[in-house]
Amino acid sequence: MQTFKGTKIVNGIAIGKIKIYKAPVYEINEELISDIAAEIERFEAARLKVQEEQNALYDKEMKEGHKDTAGIFEAHALMLDDDDLIDSCKEIMGEGHTAEFAVRDGFEAAAEMFRNMEDEYFKARSADVIDLKNAMLDVLFGADTANLQGTEPAILVAEDLAPSETVKLDKSLLLGLITRQGSSNSHTAILARSMNWPTLIQCHDVADDWDGKFAILDGYNSCIYIEPDQALIDELTAKQKADKEKEAKLQELKGKPTETKDGYKVRLYANIGGPKDINAVIENDAEGVGLFRSEFVYLNSKTDPTEEEQFQAYKKVLEALAPRLIVIRTCDIGADKTIDYMNLDKEENPALGFRAIRICLTRKDFFKRQLRALLRASAFGNLGIMFPMIISRWEVQECKAILEECKKELEAEGVKVGKYEIGIMIETPAAALCADELAEEVDFFSLGTNDLTQYTCAIDRQSANLERFANTHHPALLRLIKETIEAGHRHNTWVGICGELGADPELTEEFLKWGVDELSVNPKSILPLRDRIRNTDLSKYKKTESPAPKAEVKAEAEKPKGFFGRLFS
Ligand code: PEP
Ligand code: MG
Repeated sequence: MQTFKGTKIVNGIAIGKIKIYKAPVYEINEELISDIAAEIERFEAARLKVQEEQNALYDKEMKEGHKDTAGIFEAHALMLDDDDLIDSCKEIMGEGHTAEFAVRDGFEAAAEMFRNMEDEYFKARSADVIDLKNAMLDVLFGADTANLQGTEPAILVAEDLAPSETVKLDKSLLLGLITRQGSSNSHTAILARSMNWPTLIQCHDVADDWDGKFAILDGYNSCIYIEPDQALIDELTAKQKADKEKEAKLQELKGKPTETKDGYKVRLYANIGGPKDINAVIENDAEGVGLFRSEFVYLNSKTDPTEEEQFQAYKKVLEALAPRLIVIRTCDIGADKTIDYMNLDKEENPALGFRAIRICLTRKDFFKRQLRALLRASAFGNLGIMFPMIISRWEVQECKAILEECKKELEAEGVKVGKYEIGIMIETPAAALCADELAEEVDFFSLGTNDLTQYTCAIDRQSANLERFANTHHPALLRLIKETIEAGHRHNTWVGICGELGADPELTEEFLKWGVDELSVNPKSILPLRDRIRNTDLSKYKKTESPAPKAEVKAEAEKPKGFFGRLFS
């Protein structure tokens, strides 16, 4: 038996075989060849094979009733018949280059041509050409990519995973996740938490020869055991069973109020990525959704989603979960969440760059498409619209003005718009420190502690090398959280936490003491956190601290005023 260490992201035990996940990286032969005809023949064979695959995917999607996705594969198959594309590749091979070289350069040039087009639809086609290029290279290099994850349930081991790769994983085949790189606040880590996969990152000893070996991932001890002995298998199988029993016991908390022993109630909401998470919200008895990361609707799509596609996704969640409040955050793309069809420039410091609301306020048509979809969906449930990465009051005012413009347009078109609340993420120190003036603009705040930690401590949340310096309980961060809650309450703006820290049981008592109104966490943390809150007693603080200043009532009287507001009123 061999034992290796990593950094735990999700507790729990996974027992099974290891599958090494490796996206292929190809080294293309740059040298000239003499048998041009043979290269053209290889190219043709690959082209027909990929076309066949695309047609098969088209048939499968049609059979399953997914007409939209089927359309993508149909278009791919047609693209592979494009004379210009084929001729340009043949021309490159005619100069003595390999089929792989021709595919790389020929398809890249076609993608670039699409990228430079004015029309958004054609621009987006560049991503399709890149997909086809990759599929062609897979065939030419003989790579078996359909099987990257294997066919049996396994502990997946990877160098690192991008959010776009993580969302595509087949969850039913995933027992646990281990990466050599990764950081605890990355979106991949967040996805792992939300799926409750036992997960280790920073496992520097990951080796290719682990593939296929029997192993145990022990999240509690941040260990991976390769070929463990029987005694350990028995011990950890028993622990896994105990975990399941504990989880079953937590089910008894469903339907029970989220309140402390002394009667302080807090709203316990879920973070989701789209309609596929509706069941998780219901199964875990979340009282609402405090963060719907709408960018996952974009990440899951090969092309820029239309207003109608977005409307359908939002409506589905609002209707299925009504009358719960559903806070949908507008597209927070950029930094690690990149999308080919957005054609964003490469930046030196993407986390400090063109992202989230900065993209939306610059690409107004793109933003309006989402706002119109949200406003249309507002008629089908209880909606909160939330703007990310805010640093200044004018940004909020401009978002509200564009929202109002969309509302007027829809009303003129005779489309019904419902009621909604407006909120912002507090995830930059600038927003936290200006919370008083920002609160005058909105109904609610949601503290995005993942980014707030990164920007307060100057710790790149993606960096694998900074884990030692990252302190999620840094006093500067905690002070910003506390002061934001107080500022919100001074203006009768309710304040929630939707970053990962909201689920940290070590801080629950502090957050409640400071008067947080809502905690929005991954669905799997709802019941454990309800248990934690129900076992908390805040009565000891009543005598020692003075109540928060009386909130100036700016809207409905029933808006929550925080812990002390409720205790003393
Ligand atoms: C945050 O920054 O805390 C947050 C919730 O947003 P995201 O993790 O999606 O950046
Ligand atoms: Mg954020």
